[in-house]
Amino acid sequence: MTSSRSSISFEFFPTKTEAGHEKLLENAHRLALRQPDFFSCTYGAGGSTRDRTLETVLQLDREVKVQTAPHLSCVGDTKAELRTLLGRYREAGIRRIVALRGDLPSGMGMASGELRYANELVEFIRQETGEHFHIEVAAYPETHPQARNFDVDLANFVRKARAGASSAITQYFFNADSYFYFVERVRAQGVEIPIIPGIMPITNYSKLARFSDACGTEIPRWIRKQLESYGDDTASILAFGEQVMTQLCERLLAGGAPGLHFYTLNQAEPSLALCDNLGLSR
Ligand code: FAD
Repeated sequence: MTSSRSSISFEFFPTKTEAGHEKLLENAHRLALRQPDFFSCTYGAGGSTRDRTLETVLQLDREVKVQTAPHLSCVGDTKAELRTLLGRYREAGIRRIVALRGDLPSGMGMASGELRYANELVEFIRQETGEHFHIEVAAYPETHPQARNFDVDLANFVRKARAGASSAITQYFFNADSYFYFVERVRAQGVEIPIIPGIMPITNYSKLARFSDACGTEIPRWIRKQLESYGDDTASILAFGEQVMTQLCERLLAGGAPGLHFYTLNQAEPSLALCDNLGLSR
């Protein structure tokens, strides 16, 4: 059993349909019963979900009554747009924000936006709003896919911390050693902000393989082979996935990870099962 003091948080994405939104709210209510430290809601780079993210955040925060952090990405948004959004969140009493560069959808180009990297967005938020927000940033134990190498990416992560980030959430990974090594190298730079592992429950092999290719996460061969062998047998994928992820989370918490951030993909069951297995339900 792990300490009940580990933080837990659940991430959602804003949906396009009314039915999807209803499902999101239903699952958020179920996850809220575990008394998470916060929820977060993603933001489509270039402002593609600007209104839906704002509405979802306010609804989760007010109706589901869990402190909710909007994600905010800077590529494709002007400073004026970011300032307006920060103002609305501030007025609404939101105190936490996940600050990202973002990835523009293909076809939207790369040049728009006045801030190029997440460290510049962190700096901008601090300039505009002082210490109002707890600022989360992204971390990449397996190295961001566009980074030349680990050391360059580490230096860029340290830049975000020095710009005023309060804590970090990692990209999901399946290799605990990559997390421990990353944290050790960050600490060696004198940076002490909490670095929370991002946890992706395993529910669907083909989607997971696609996401992982895009974001630079390695699926170890032994996991890949096993998942491939199950084909369409969803029950076996879920059972194996739960076992693998429970073990990974146990190792992370036992090794000092301060908490876990679950990429729920708007589902409740897979994250609830992991919380129960880990003794994280409150
Ligand atoms: P940065 O920290 O800016 O890094 C991006 C790349 O540029 C890295 O290769 C880095 O090494 C390099 N770099 C950083 N700073 C500099 C600099 N000053 N000079 C030169 N190079 C630099 N995407 C969305 O669109 N919406 C979301 O809601 C969203 N939520 C996420 C939540 C989490 C927890 C994580 C881990 C990722 C999320 N993403 C989201 C994906 C993220 O936007 C992408 O991974 C994106 O490619 C990088 O964003 P970043 O904030 O890490 O960028």
